[in-house]
Amino acid sequence: MIKIYEIPGGIHPPENKQQSLQRGLGALPLPQQLIVPLNQHSGAPATPRVAVGDNVLKGQKIAAATGRVSATLHAPTSGTVTAISPQPVAHPSGMTTPCIIIASDGKEQWVDRQGTTDFASQSPKQLLTTIREAGIAGMGGAGFPTDIKLSASENGQTIDTLIINATECEPYITADHQLMLSYPQQIVTGIQILAHILGQPQRILIGIEDNKADAYDVLEPYLADTSIQLVEFPTKYPSGGEKQLIQILTGKELPNGRLPADIGIVCQNIGTAHAVYRAVVEGTPLISRITTVTGDACREPQNLEVLIGTPIEQVLAHCGYQSEGNQPVVMGGPMMGFALHDLTAPVVKTTNCLLAPSSTEMPPPQPAQPCIRCGMCSEACPAGLLPQQLLWYAQSRNHQRLQAHNLFDCIECGACAYVCPSHIPLVQHYRAAKSELRQAARDKIKSDRARERFEFNKLRKQQAEAEKAAKREARRLASEQAKAAIAEQGGGAAPKNAASDVVQAALQKVAAKQASPEQQRAKLERSVNSAENRLQRLESKLAAGDDTPLSDEQIAGYQAQIESARLKLSEAQQKLAEFEQTQGASQEQKVMAKVLASPKETLDKKVASLEKRLAGIEEKLANCDDDDLRQALENSANKFRSKLQDARQEIAQLGSEDQQPVSDPATITAAQQVVSRSAAKAPVTPQQQVERLQNRIAKAEQRLTSLTDPVQVDALNTSLANLKQKLADAKKALENTQP
Ligand code: SF4
Ligand code: SF4
Repeated sequence: MIKIYEIPGGIHPPENKQQSLQRGLGALPLPQQLIVPLNQHSGAPATPRVAVGDNVLKGQKIAAATGRVSATLHAPTSGTVTAISPQPVAHPSGMTTPCIIIASDGKEQWVDRQGTTDFASQSPKQLLTTIREAGIAGMGGAGFPTDIKLSASENGQTIDTLIINATECEPYITADHQLMLSYPQQIVTGIQILAHILGQPQRILIGIEDNKADAYDVLEPYLADTSIQLVEFPTKYPSGGEKQLIQILTGKELPNGRLPADIGIVCQNIGTAHAVYRAVVEGTPLISRITTVTGDACREPQNLEVLIGTPIEQVLAHCGYQSEGNQPVVMGGPMMGFALHDLTAPVVKTTNCLLAPSSTEMPPPQPAQPCIRCGMCSEACPAGLLPQQLLWYAQSRNHQRLQAHNLFDCIECGACAYVCPSHIPLVQHYRAAKSELRQAARDKIKSDRARERFEFNKLRKQQAEAEKAAKREARRLASEQAKAAIAEQGGGAAPKNAASDVVQAALQKVAAKQASPEQQRAKLERSVNSAENRLQRLESKLAAGDDTPLSDEQIAGYQAQIESARLKLSEAQQKLAEFEQTQGASQEQKVMAKVLASPKETLDKKVASLEKRLAGIEEKLANCDDDDLRQALENSANKFRSKLQDARQEIAQLGSEDQQPVSDPATITAAQQVVSRSAAKAPVTPQQQVERLQNRIAKAEQRLTSLTDPVQVDALNTSLANLKQKLADAKKALENTQP
């Protein structure tokens, strides 16, 4: 005989449970359409694994759990997915959430199921996976995913007590009561599976109120050869709260902010134990549940086995519901339930009761009067709170005091509001205050993140400023050194210092990048030739029309193409002419322009070059069909966008001194000397040019074999083609020089 402990507070509202127990367990005809919300449990919504138009089998997975706290969803019947869209769901706010809608094919064709009676041969981990895959979430409360609660042993916690909650203390609700009458053997096996997962706790207790004598009698014989104890205790609301039930059965008080597993206890609803049995032994996922349909507005109140996703209006209609205008239908019981805004919303995994009361049975709430400080609410509170104090702090939005008075220990049982002679809707105030506190916590996290981001950006800017200042200082020092060296050498030989290094590097870069004048001329001549050829071809096609008559449309088309070809030819000729003119301009001038450019000019050039390269990638992206290449191109485009943004940001941050070209006479003199010396060097011979190009091609081909990124391969192939063209030109030039 196990000792029963008292809990503080509690009330004894009229039970009204008999109405729904008269007719036994019933079933609904198969609905034509089932609406499965992606989020019907605590945590993250599941992610759809089907698309509109897919055919599904009963029990097939249609949405996968997303993250640790989430639950898988399954098709409640066979049929076709007709939509995945926001639909009204059962929620106090009347909100809509994304749902998978399945049109039933009427066949109830099951997916392959695999269950086992030999669950003892499976490891807790395997069983937890089965439970997770079956989408089982707590069926007596907020719908917390069951496998997480059961992972206590897996997480290294020792569980000595498993409590099965068969209390069902709220008036009207008899779903668990009916379950015990209908499936006692399955429930016992389900509890044994839970005990196996938890490493066989020393105590396994089923807590049941003494208003369920028939359920007690049905269940007891099945426990004869087990270590499970059925514990009956006096009916009082809300003995079914997790904290309260733990205290009643063990005498232990759960400390604030702690979980039952922290004191060695796991508590599961009896409906959850039955769902676990179905998942493990039958291989059946959670696609239905027992729901109590009751209230005087229903002619035939009853407990029904309902498919998840069944529209609530159909469940009510089956029980002879007759609407009384504005009288609400409540999901849950009269104490903790909430009014439904839309009866097309579906039944979900936590729908234990649909209460349709008449207006005499549940009249509209009376107007609230001022608090008279009678203290009845404190006496009724099972959590040992001071409800009237919480009310004042909630009304004055005193968040600090609300937390100090343990607002979050309130289980929203409504016992305080039930006894309040002033009819103050205390629970509504607490719910609003809790949501304000949660929002304040979220806002704090957001503002902390924003502050961190701001400080990080500030630091980055400071670092960038410091780097720029260091570069400016380096330039100044280089200039001073150049000046000193020139003065020392009387303007003779070029100084071997930082300035000359910069010029040399620029010279080398320009020389490496630039094709020889012969190559540039050859390229421009090729463009002119090609444009001339195209123009000739088009003109001869138009002329051919004299022999073979062309339609007006064809003639107009040829004329437009000829006009465009003429334009291109003229552009190519113009470029060739400009090139011939600029040949007078020396390479040295270009180098000087580059060396003496202001930081602003250098950055402008960088931006222009990046824009050009980005445009090239975007053009390739627009014509790309290959997914892999597309991904690589997108990555590459993102890199260029980021570089472009940085360069533009740098320009925006430039000071006025960065807009001016280098005007320091000493630096200019030093640069001119190095340029002149370089120009005086012996020119590259055609033979050397051929050899250099051959070397570069060999290196590029070798590098090509080690590249895997399609964008890099593409870019290198283009360079290779250019180099090969240059080599052909260089060989031609070499042949021309040979006698
Ligand atoms: S029961 Fe109502 S009237 Fe009495 S103290 Fe509590 S809130 Fe005030
Ligand atoms: S609703 Fe909260 S404050 Fe009121 S009795 Fe229940 S636990 Fe106590």
